[in-house]
Amino acid sequence: MNLILIGAQGSGKGTQASILVERLGIRHLASGDIFRNAVAQGTPLGLEVKGYMERGELVPDRITIALILDLLRDPAYEKGVVLDGFPRTRDQAKALDDALPQLHRRIDRAIYLNVPREVLLDRLSGRYVCVAHQHVYNIKTKPPKTPGICDIDGSELIQRSDDTPAVIETRLQKFFEDTIQVVHYYRAQGKLLELDGNQPIEEVSRQLLLGLGLDPAQAKPGS
Ligand SMILES: [Zn+2]
Repeated sequence: MNLILIGAQGSGKGTQASILVERLGIRHLASGDIFRNAVAQGTPLGLEVKGYMERGELVPDRITIALILDLLRDPAYEKGVVLDGFPRTRDQAKALDDALPQLHRRIDRAIYLNVPREVLLDRLSGRYVCVAHQHVYNIKTKPPKTPGICDIDGSELIQRSDDTPAVIETRLQKFFEDTIQVVHYYRAQGKLLELDGNQPIEEVSRQLLLGLGLDPAQAKPGS
């Protein structure tokens, strides 16, 4: 099963992606990993990506899609993939649809974790990470046992420079203007599974699995 997972930062995408990976035996492919992997391997495409990144330019869609196709040829992706962070625009979604038939694949479903903007802002502005290992906490939803200190390694908790309210606002703005177009794109194809992401994680997972025709009762508790 080839899935697209769409959700703003703070929508709980990572958690739901892990559940899909476990239940379906598919691989999670986040856009950042696609680039990091290519650069690390030093392939011709990887070198091109490196150049764009060093110049601070966006990696062109044709390269991103070529990288995705390369990865999907790997037997590890035989059961499918959950793409996360790509496509971000309608053009990218269209380009992906045009390219996948080369591998005799297609996008089966696009999952949208719908969380209201105010809730996202609230969730994200409470985020803190530890200095030592970037363990993530949230003052509201996942506070550390001792304020300001990481439970795991005892290091200090700080707010990242990209987690300040102004930066968060800009990112959310971009999501609700651009990426929401991808939601409309898959809805028009009848492939959209829209979930209310403003619910407890377990309830979102339950609806996600049901929506994909899977039995939520088979999910491992607490995983
Ligand atoms: Zn830590």
